[in-house]
Amino acid sequence: MAKIIPKRVLDEIRFRNDIADVVGSYFALKRAGSGFKAVCPFHKEKTPSFHVNPQRQIYHCFGCGAGGDVFSFIMQYEGVDFTTAAKLLAQRAGVPLELEEGGEPAGRKDVLYRIHEEVAQFYRRCLLQLKSAAGARAYLQKRKLTEAIGEEFMIGFAPDRWDAVLKWGEKHKFDPAALERCGLVVRKETAARSRQGYDRFRNRIMFPIRDEQGRVIGFSGRALGGDDQTAKYVNSPETPLFKKSRVLYALQTARRHIVETREAVICEGQIDVIRCHASGLQTAVAAQGTAFTEDHARILRRYADSVVIVFDPDRAGEDAAVRAGTTFLDAGLAVRIATLPPGEDPDSFLLKHGVDAFRELLGKAEPVIRYQVRVLSSREDVRSEVGLLRVARAALETITHSPNAVQRARLVQTAAELLNLPVAALQDDLRQMRRRRYRGGAAPPENATPGSDRRDAAHPPHEVSLCEHMVHIAEHAELGPLVEKYLPLEMISDPVCRDIVRAALDSAVSGRGIQDIVRDYADPSEELQRLAAEVQAAPNRLSEDVTHVDAARDLILRIWRGRFQTERRALRDAAPEEQRQRAAEITYHLNRLKNWEDGAPVIEFELGGA
Ligand SMILES: [Zn+2]
Repeated sequence: MAKIIPKRVLDEIRFRNDIADVVGSYFALKRAGSGFKAVCPFHKEKTPSFHVNPQRQIYHCFGCGAGGDVFSFIMQYEGVDFTTAAKLLAQRAGVPLELEEGGEPAGRKDVLYRIHEEVAQFYRRCLLQLKSAAGARAYLQKRKLTEAIGEEFMIGFAPDRWDAVLKWGEKHKFDPAALERCGLVVRKETAARSRQGYDRFRNRIMFPIRDEQGRVIGFSGRALGGDDQTAKYVNSPETPLFKKSRVLYALQTARRHIVETREAVICEGQIDVIRCHASGLQTAVAAQGTAFTEDHARILRRYADSVVIVFDPDRAGEDAAVRAGTTFLDAGLAVRIATLPPGEDPDSFLLKHGVDAFRELLGKAEPVIRYQVRVLSSREDVRSEVGLLRVARAALETITHSPNAVQRARLVQTAAELLNLPVAALQDDLRQMRRRRYRGGAAPPENATPGSDRRDAAHPPHEVSLCEHMVHIAEHAELGPLVEKYLPLEMISDPVCRDIVRAALDSAVSGRGIQDIVRDYADPSEELQRLAAEVQAAPNRLSEDVTHVDAARDLILRIWRGRFQTERRALRDAAPEEQRQRAAEITYHLNRLKNWEDGAPVIEFELGGA
């Protein structure tokens, strides 16, 4: 996204909005040591684990891992984007906003939002008033999508005409080019119909799609006729506002409820989601006519620790459920999959049996591995070795997606029990698979720290530890030369950790705060903001006779050992002579890398020599 607020204005906004004042204006903060604490607004808790540190101008919750600077706080608390957060804070502190030239003109996107909102209302009026919408109204009645539901979700109707939106736009003085940019109008050079183009959505029930802030950013249109030639659903194309891979239907309502239970219900279709919400189960969301993406998972992880997937109980739905499950596992979420009776979808089930029965069904959802093994076992002949291996391999493939060692161990155990195979055998295979996935890169992140924060799962723990020490660089200046001499930044495998270490080094030179520096790097990575706050808030875990410098040295040795181990494994593919020489050298190095006195010369040699 184009930056529209100049940096010096952002610095001014930050300077005039003390984080403790800003947070304190939303809810009461209690003094705690040199900072403040409160009950976390982002997860449910009884004892306060939400901390505000005025020195570093950050907040961090030890319970849910939320954190960042004053901009992050407004974004997260108000559910707005960075630019809006900056505007709100500017207003609060009376900083005049001068917008910079260039980039996406601020007004242009505003027009697109306005068109979407007004077209949604136009479609709604068409549904309620047009004679030609009688079929649509009858359909909604048949599907038991009542007036109240229609009003809440702004369900509308696109008339069966080529120019309904075009004419509407003309009447309301909207530029046809803007309608095209919204994806509401299609222009085809060859179409003799007109140079102006024609309506994309015709004779369809219209479901507006909103972003997290509740603004309409696109539409999904459901065909009315049973005609085989017509696609059942047509969605808005990718536009400046609508990014399919990031949109979760009904998230603007669901997120508040998800935060309370820390669990999201994942459906396949909009009508399923609407039915869930209308029945009082408001944690339901769906993707937008597409597979679930990493972005979807990342968005959900901000609000949830776990998800329950409830798709159609047919073969396509089963496969899609496992695929979605894998994507969520990747993001570090716990995943369960619920099974509906044959022929039902969440909508029909809720209508027939009510929300209590549905909740009960969700309660019985199986962990993703159990589900996958059961479904595949019903398709394969698991009494034959080939069939059994196929199921085992598919299950292990899913397990490799979990970034968390504890979770992986648990999943392997489950798979072994279900397949009646020895745990050790599956563990071996899993190790092989993971090695293949990580070959050539850094060593696989072995996140085995029990009870560690779930969000740590995505970052290698020793690199996070290094960050925890590096943020003390202001009081321990020796950290700078140490890292600069012995640890080339590209050896830090995790890009977020790498940026934090770089920011610490920059702050030693410029004297600026680490959180400010990462804001410059980050735009728009909130994960960098969050982790930077987390490592700065981390309690001092050093015993008395150990300094930050000692600890950093140990971690540098560890990162080098990991690099040598990876290299030695990769040597298996090299020519025999070269292999023996280098492998012997590495073994010698590895032995010396056990303490700093012997290890430092080895590193100097590697960096200077080779
Ligand atoms: Zn929290």
